Amino acid sequence: MLDILEKEYIGTKIGLSSAEAAKRLRENGSNALAAKKKNGAVRIFFSQFKDIMVLILLVSTAISVFLGELYDAVTIILIVLINSILGFIQEYRTEKTLEELEKMAAPSARVWRDGELTRIPAEELVIGDVIELEAGDRVPADCVILSSSGLMAEESVLTGESAAVPKRAGNPHEELTSAPDLPTAVYAGTVITKGSARCIVRATGKGTQIGRISDMLSEIDDEPTPLQKQLGELGRVVAIICMAVCVIVFAAGVLRGEPVFDMLMTGITIAIAAIPEGLPAAVTIALALAVRRMLRQNALVHKLHAVETLGCASVICTDKTGTVTENKMTVTRLFCGEESYEVLGTGYRISGEIRRNGEHINPIAAPALHETLVAAAVCNDARISSPVKISSRNRGSVSAAERSAEWSVSGDPTEIALLIAAAKGGITENATDRARYGEIPFDSESRCMTVFAKAPSGRKVAYIKGAPDVLLSRCTYYKGDDGVRPMTNAVRRRLIEENERMTSEALRVLALASKELQGGSDEQAEYGLTFLGLAGMIDPPRKEAKRAVRLCRSAHIRTVMITGDHINTAVAVAKRAGIFRGGDIALSGAELSAMSDEELAERTENCSVFARVSPADKLRIVRAFRKRGHIVAMTGDGVNDAPAIKEAGIGVSMGITGTDVTKQAADVILLDDNFATLVSAVRQGRAIYSNIRKFVRYLLSCNIGEVITMFLGIIMGLPIVLLPTQVLLVNLLTDGLPAVALGVEPPDEDIMSRKPRRRDESFFSGGLLPKIIFRGILIGLSTLGCFVFAMRSGIGLNAARTCALFTLVTSQLLHVFECKSETRSIFGVPYLNNIKLILSVAISAAIILAAIYLPPLQLIFSTVPLSSEQLLSSFGFAAAIPVAAAIVNPFLRKRD
Ligand code: ATP
Repeated sequence: MLDILEKEYIGTKIGLSSAEAAKRLRENGSNALAAKKKNGAVRIFFSQFKDIMVLILLVSTAISVFLGELYDAVTIILIVLINSILGFIQEYRTEKTLEELEKMAAPSARVWRDGELTRIPAEELVIGDVIELEAGDRVPADCVILSSSGLMAEESVLTGESAAVPKRAGNPHEELTSAPDLPTAVYAGTVITKGSARCIVRATGKGTQIGRISDMLSEIDDEPTPLQKQLGELGRVVAIICMAVCVIVFAAGVLRGEPVFDMLMTGITIAIAAIPEGLPAAVTIALALAVRRMLRQNALVHKLHAVETLGCASVICTDKTGTVTENKMTVTRLFCGEESYEVLGTGYRISGEIRRNGEHINPIAAPALHETLVAAAVCNDARISSPVKISSRNRGSVSAAERSAEWSVSGDPTEIALLIAAAKGGITENATDRARYGEIPFDSESRCMTVFAKAPSGRKVAYIKGAPDVLLSRCTYYKGDDGVRPMTNAVRRRLIEENERMTSEALRVLALASKELQGGSDEQAEYGLTFLGLAGMIDPPRKEAKRAVRLCRSAHIRTVMITGDHINTAVAVAKRAGIFRGGDIALSGAELSAMSDEELAERTENCSVFARVSPADKLRIVRAFRKRGHIVAMTGDGVNDAPAIKEAGIGVSMGITGTDVTKQAADVILLDDNFATLVSAVRQGRAIYSNIRKFVRYLLSCNIGEVITMFLGIIMGLPIVLLPTQVLLVNLLTDGLPAVALGVEPPDEDIMSRKPRRRDESFFSGGLLPKIIFRGILIGLSTLGCFVFAMRSGIGLNAARTCALFTLVTSQLLHVFECKSETRSIFGVPYLNNIKLILSVAISAAIILAAIYLPPLQLIFSTVPLSSEQLLSSFGFAAAIPVAAAIVNPFLRKRD
C-alpha cells in the first residue's frame, strides 16, 4: 500500500496519470452502482407489438389468411408495420433524449490527474485517485481523507442519522473497514455539508459501502407525470366505451345478416381507429421534445413532470448573484482607516487605479488601505494570473503591459474582485510573503471566512472577511493610517453609515479584519478583531433579466428576489431589474425570524425582496407562498438550499454555481444560472401544455368522428360505410404525423399574457370536452352525409365509400389547423408558424389522393377513382364544418 501511496499521492505529482487511471478503469470497471436497464432499439421495436390492439389485429389478420382474404391480410400487416415503425422512431428518439439528459445530470468529481485538477464524470473514478471535496458535494466513492478543513459530512444514507458528523484527516495508509462511520473516511453517496477536503479513493462502484447495501441508482425520474397518468386514465375510459360500441356494431351487423367475419373485422377496426391507445406515448414524446427544446435554451429538465408544472408557476423566487446579476464583480469603493477610496476600472484588467479625493494613491502611503488589500489577497481562495510569465518580470511588481491585459481568473467572483482590487494597489501573487496554514471556509450561514497565515517573521495572523454586520460586532480595534486604535462607538457608527451608503448604491459590501495570534489557539480569531476596511463591489444586473421580469409580470407571475446579501444592496439591485416597485416591501432574515408562519404568509403578498436570509428562511418562504395557494419556482445553489428546492413546486438549481446536492434535489437545472432562462422554460412549459391540449383535442375528435361514422351507419341500416383497410388508412394518415406536428407548435403569441394554470385545473377546462365531442359528431355526420348522398346519386357502393373516405380524411386534415387555436377559427390561425404541420398535412393529402387514383393502391384499399365533381362535393362536406364553425362560434362565444 505504501508504494502505491508514494506514487499516487506523496510523490511529486498529485494523483494518478491518465494512462494508469484508464488501465484501472478497464481492470476494475466503472464507479457505478447497478446500471439502469436501458431500453435498446430492439426492445423498443418489439414493444410496439405488445399493444393489445395490435395483437387483436394480428390475430384477425391470421383469420383473414385462413379465410383466403389475402389482400386484406397483407394490407393490415403493412399498416400495422408502418404504424409500428413510426411509433418506434419517435419512442427511440425520446429514449435517446432522456438518456442524454441523464448523462448530463450525472454527478462529476474533481480529481487530480497528471498533476492537474480536472473535473470528470464520477463514473470514471478509480481506486487511488486523489479527489477534492467541498461543501455541497455528494461523495463519489469511498475515500480516506488526506487533508481537511472544517469538514462535516451527512451520512444519513448509510447510518440513518441526519445530523452531520465532523471528519478529519487520517492516516493515508489506513484501510477502510466495513464500519461506515470512520471519522477519517468519507463514503460514497454521503454529502459534504461544510468545509473541504482532499481524499484518496479506496473503493468504487459496487465495492463501496452503499454499493454493497443497495443497487439504488440516482437517476432521472421516469415516473409518469400527472398529465400522463390523467390521459392514460382517459384513454382507458374511452377504450371501454369503444369496446362497447364495437360489440354493439358487431351484434347489430350480424343480426342484420352481414357475414360474421366481415362484422368481426369491422368491429376490430373501429376499436383500432377509435381507441386513443397512443395517447400516453404521444404525451411522452411531446414532453421529451419540449425537454430537448428547453435544453437548447440552457434549461436542463431533471424530472419530466417539471415540464408540466413549470406552466403553473405563479411565483418565481430567484437568487440575486449570477441569476439576476452577471456575477462579474468589481470593487469600486474602499473605506479604510476613516478614508474613502475610489477604485477605477472594470472587468479583469488591472489598469484602474485607486484614488482618494480624485488623486491617485499608492497604498504604501496609506497603511490602512495597504493592510486591507493584503487581507483581501490573503483571505482568498480565488486565483488570478497575469498574462505575463513571472520569470519575465520582477516578482511582486506589475508592469504596464500586464495592467492593460485581461487577466485569467478562477474561483468565486466576490473573491476575484478582491484580488483584482489588491492587484490594482500593487499587491499580487496573493501576497505570498504570508504563508497560509489554515482556513475556515466561507459558508452562507456564518457569512464570513478566515485564513490563518504566517508572516516571514514567524508572526501568526488570522485574516477574516465577511458581511459587515457579522464582522463589525467582533471588532474591538480598528486600523487607522496612524496605527491600531480601540474601536469606539463613533467609529462603529461611521462604518455602519458607510456600509449603508455603499449598499444603497447596489454594492455588495464585505468587511475585512485581522487578528494577531500570539501563541494562542486559532479559535481566538473569532473575536477581538482589528477592523481593516470595507470593500464595496458592483455586480451589474443582467441585461436580459429586466425583460424577463417584465415578461413574468405580463404572465401574472410574481418575481421575488431571495438573497444572502444586505437588504439595501438587494433592494437596489431589485429596483434596477424591475423586481422591486412602488408599494412593494423588503424583509430581512431578522424580520422573518420574528414573524409567525401566518404573519409571514400574509406579508409575502407584497414582499418582493427577502434579504440576509438563511437557507432555513428559504424553506419558510416557500411554505408561506404555498400557503397562499401559489406554485413556487425556487432557485438555489448551496447545499443548504436543497430542502427549499425540494419543497417548492418547481425546484431549480444553478448549473454553474450549484452543488451536487442542490442539482439532484432540483427539477430543473439552469445551465447558465440565468433568470431569463428560467422564464423561457416557464414559457415552454406553458406552450407544451397548450400543445398537448391541441393534439388531444384533435385526436379525440377525429376518433369520435370515425366511431360515429361506423356506428350510425350500422344503426341506420346502411351498408358498412368504410372497410377495415380504409379505416386503418384514415388512422395512419391523421393520427400519425399531423398529431405529432401539433405537439411541436411554437408557443402561442399570447402565451405569456395569460394567467398561470391552476395545478388542479382539469385538463379539459375551458369547455374543451364539449368542443371535442361536438366536433367528433359533426365529422361523423358529414362523412355519413357524404356517403348517403353518394349512394343516392347511384354511383355504386365502392365509389360512395371512396367519397366517404375522402370526406373523413379531409375533414380531419382541416380540423388539425383549427386545433392550432382555442379561440380563433380556421381563417384566423397562423398557418406559416409550423411548417412541419403543413408538410405533414400535405403528405397525408398526397397519400389519400394516391390511394384513390393509383391502381395498385385502389386494389389494396378497395377505392375507385373519383370524378372532379365527386371529389369536390366530398370536399364540400368536409369543408362545411370549419366554415360553419367560423360563422357560428363567434356568436356562441359572445353569448357565453
Ligand atoms: P445571492 O442571492 O446574491 O447569490 P447569496 O445568498 O448566495 O447571495 P452569499 O454568497 O451567501 O449570498 O453571501 C452572503 C454574504 O456573505 C454577502 O453579502 C457577503 O457579505 C458575504 N460573503 C459573500 N461571499 C463571501 C466570501 N467569499 N467570503 C466572505 N464573505 C462573503
